Amino acid sequence: MKHGMSNIHFAPAAFSSKEQLASTFIHEMGHVIHNNLGLSQLANTPASGLGFDNYGHAAIYKMQYNLLKMNGWLNKNINGFVNGVDKYLLGTSNQIINDYPDLYNSIKKLEKIIKFK
Ligand SMILES: [Zn+2]
Repeated sequence: MKHGMSNIHFAPAAFSSKEQLASTFIHEMGHVIHNNLGLSQLANTPASGLGFDNYGHAAIYKMQYNLLKMNGWLNKNINGFVNGVDKYLLGTSNQIINDYPDLYNSIKKLEKIIKFK
């Protein structure tokens, strides 16, 4: 990927509902921002034993959770949140964000850009 350029591909399942599309969109934009800010190496660090494949996904999980919560969508069977939020994952994501705040601070605006109300 060229710096400053990203292609986002959405699987058909992303369009199953407006809530799913919004959640998928900010997830992918989270990756784009991490890459564009040079945080991809940190984001790709394996988060072994903490329930996430890497640190980037931990920060993105927290951001997606906030989007769903703010919009009242935690019961909408969104991919990754089918049974609402996983308290364990929320805890480990907070732990990772505390250690590497840039990963979350760089993307947290995304959780507020989509509001249908
Ligand atoms: Zn991802």
